[in-house]
Amino acid sequence: MLSREKEYFEIINQIYQKVIHEENVGETASYIPELSKIDGEKFGVSILLTDQLQFGFGDYQEKFSIQSISKVLLLALVYGEIGEKIWERVDVEPSGTPFNSLLQLESDKGIPRNPFINSGALVVCDILIGICDNPKEYFLNYIRKVSGNNVIQYSDKIAKSEFTTAYRNAALTNFLKSLGNIHHSPDEVLELYVHICSIEMTSLELSKTFSFLANKGKNLFDDQEILSNSQTKRINAIMQTCGFYDESGEFAFRVGLPGKSGVGGGIVAIMPKHYIVSVWSPKLNSKGNSYRGMKFLEEFTTATEDSIF
Ligand code: GLU
Repeated sequence: MLSREKEYFEIINQIYQKVIHEENVGETASYIPELSKIDGEKFGVSILLTDQLQFGFGDYQEKFSIQSISKVLLLALVYGEIGEKIWERVDVEPSGTPFNSLLQLESDKGIPRNPFINSGALVVCDILIGICDNPKEYFLNYIRKVSGNNVIQYSDKIAKSEFTTAYRNAALTNFLKSLGNIHHSPDEVLELYVHICSIEMTSLELSKTFSFLANKGKNLFDDQEILSNSQTKRINAIMQTCGFYDESGEFAFRVGLPGKSGVGGGIVAIMPKHYIVSVWSPKLNSKGNSYRGMKFLEEFTTATEDSIF
């Protein structure tokens, strides 16, 4: 290992050991019944450096439900397909409200504040339905290409568990439809949305999947162009400002990297041109972000003195 790599290895090991021995606060997401069954003590960390060295600690090879982290990949797919027109249907402003809020939609005339809150991702799902014949298959193939991994799958069990209790997301989809920003059947949109959220990956796989966002839009492992450099910059900017629901400011303040969390307890964060780091720990704080994930990343960027600021 080079000295920088050795330094990262030692820092991550040290912080991992420290955080795992501290009190683990919060609750697993209980509103999706299948997610409430996950062991809240799971804790995995994995980093992929842009020179392609990758390593991990703890439960980094165990699959988990990436939930909202999928919204970044959904955005990348649709943005890549339709370009700037996407911003006619969804905005790029932080919402300052919870991920599943209906509050701003009426005054914003049905244009969700950003693609990473539920209303925004539902609109992006609706666009995807309009541009391909089999959106579920299309999205899965895209994720497999971006991750370089042909066994990535939806969890039908988690998708079904979410669909049967998705009262709020159903309300959001119907509300957006009444405001004219859903063009297909609300049920079809919701069904696609819960599948996209149900994708399962390990933190090792997650870091690799997000490598194009640290590498000017190209996969690190096969140099395939996923997005242009400018589109990549924009997605990183939206992650920076909107990736953590109404805790996005706090994440920028404490960690200082673009990133995205999901209610499965995963967080992926990117230091462009340097690394992609993924953490999984299912207990969530009151804003829906992984308690240990936030803590680990804050200590990591503090110890490495490495952040985009
Ligand atoms: N499927 C979840 C929901 O819509 C995703 C939420 C999240 O991870 O932020 O509630």
